[in-house]
Amino acid sequence: MSRLDDERIIGLRVWHLQLPVVSARDHGIGRVDQVIDIGLLECETSGGIRGYGEASPWVVFTGSVEASLAAMTRYLPPLVLGRSLSDRQAICKDAEHAVAHATEAKAALETALLDASGKALGVSVAEMLGGAVRHRIPLSCSLANPDFDADLALVERLQADQVNIVKLKTGFADHRFDMMRLESLRKHFPDLQIRVDYNQGLSPYGAETKLRDVAGFLPDFIEQPVPARHFDAMRRLRESITVPLLADESVFSLADMHRAVAEDICDGVSIKIMKSGGLSYAQHIAALAEAKGLAAYGGDMFEAGVAHLAGTHMIAATPNITLGCEFYQAKYYLKEDILASPYPIVDGYAMLPEGAGLGIDPDLDKVNHYAKQSWNQSWQTEHKS
Ligand SMILES: [Mg+2]
Repeated sequence: MSRLDDERIIGLRVWHLQLPVVSARDHGIGRVDQVIDIGLLECETSGGIRGYGEASPWVVFTGSVEASLAAMTRYLPPLVLGRSLSDRQAICKDAEHAVAHATEAKAALETALLDASGKALGVSVAEMLGGAVRHRIPLSCSLANPDFDADLALVERLQADQVNIVKLKTGFADHRFDMMRLESLRKHFPDLQIRVDYNQGLSPYGAETKLRDVAGFLPDFIEQPVPARHFDAMRRLRESITVPLLADESVFSLADMHRAVAEDICDGVSIKIMKSGGLSYAQHIAALAEAKGLAAYGGDMFEAGVAHLAGTHMIAATPNITLGCEFYQAKYYLKEDILASPYPIVDGYAMLPEGAGLGIDPDLDKVNHYAKQSWNQSWQTEHKS
């Protein structure tokens, strides 16, 4: 019997959190304003270990918080309660079939099981995923404020913090607004690394001219210009520009990645645990991209610190994710994050925390403060009834 066999999962707690944000943001497919909605999951074991995972959906991208919460409170608990931490992979496999989609809830579940297992064994989540190949990840911050002057002020703050990569969100207003912002960024911050992300904001008709204009500013890459389903348009656009094209919304799963490489739609891919439905699965997608010579980027959704930590451990342990990460929300977008100590960003890098599991726990006082609703289930109760 291993230490993980001894640790039976006896309790699950779920919180629906609404976390206030500092500004509105516009993306090609939708707006975020006032608050973000996330789900937080706690797995408690018979030995008193608590593991945490976060589900961070965005309703126009991956799904709704209601679907995440239903998965975490209704469809997943019967697969989890009473089983041991050593069943982690089997539980995650069962979760794939227990409820369709709900990838954010499945990511939260695997995160919580890895966090608890790491704590039981005294190793980090990155070690459980194969071991860290990097201990710091270049941080990119996205610019999506409809008030561009506020974004310029944010870039000043980023530069003071030595964050030198930004991703400009384009395609939510008109092309002239995108050109004006690119010109202004290049003029005021000549050393800034700029990436561009349309979040599916262009129609395939007329997209080529716009992308050529944008490519003239030599961004590192242009991400997902057209809707996810337009694989043919992605391939044609890729052929028509000289800067790399990244797929994001077109690639959620391993099957999507396979199709993307088979149809040559991109030079790289944005990998997110909220799309793939877990950390291990994200690593499989990165490996498939690597096999075909594609680069990978560590994207995220509108997340708080627990999801950032999960992504950080996953990227640290995944050699092919070489284009940095965008775990900026905890520090630069939320009014207050939920971690007990700040999500670690040093000199423009997201840092892999020391310590077992994720390395930092949520502060439950903050969690309860921002909770709209919570649920509590225990194995003993279910078992006896
Ligand atoms: Mg994107």
